[in-house]
Amino acid sequence: MVDLDPTTPDSIIWKWESSGQYSSKSAYKALFSGRVTFLSTPIWKSLAPPRCCFFLWLVAINRCWTADRLRSRGLPHPDRCVLCDQYEESIDHILVACPESRQLWWWTLQAIRSPNCLLVNEPSFHNWLCESRMKIGERHRRGFDTVVTLMAWTIWKERNNQIFNQQQRSWTEVAKAMAEEAMLWKSANHGIPAVWPLRGRGSQI
Ligand SMILES: [Zn+2]
Repeated sequence: MVDLDPTTPDSIIWKWESSGQYSSKSAYKALFSGRVTFLSTPIWKSLAPPRCCFFLWLVAINRCWTADRLRSRGLPHPDRCVLCDQYEESIDHILVACPESRQLWWWTLQAIRSPNCLLVNEPSFHNWLCESRMKIGERHRRGFDTVVTLMAWTIWKERNNQIFNQQQRSWTEVAKAMAEEAMLWKSANHGIPAVWPLRGRGSQI
């Protein structure tokens, strides 16, 4: 039961600070308050190039310009996911739920011998990443984060290529291009483990 004092005027209180005053620090914290898991390590400590790390950051805070976000701002947007043409597009759909992009996950996670990390009804890419990397030995975790960053970046570029350039490739072609990019990353940073097996024995591609 709350007693209201009719003589006290209404005022706006920022509930994320004990003082009731807005601060950018508390706003930042509030941004993640509804998330089950948030870890910055797999985003910023991977060996991926900075632009890809930044992309992963935008994914984690849901700031990519996918159809759901465009629609909420009243902006023109595709009706459905351009990759599968079945569901509404969101960044989590593209990265974890789309039946098309899951092919790339399947190939790659098999290839790096992490099939136990395959996506199963996981609604959030970032949550999946935070939980899956804990199944990986600590010594290999940074490499795993790097591979996952590359996969997400590859799917995002493929989506953009289809929307903005009307160019479509098979997932086999996409995977091969991804493997080539991985070799470039590795030549620039020898700390990246040799986990680029798409051309290896037992490869599906
Ligand atoms: Zn889709």
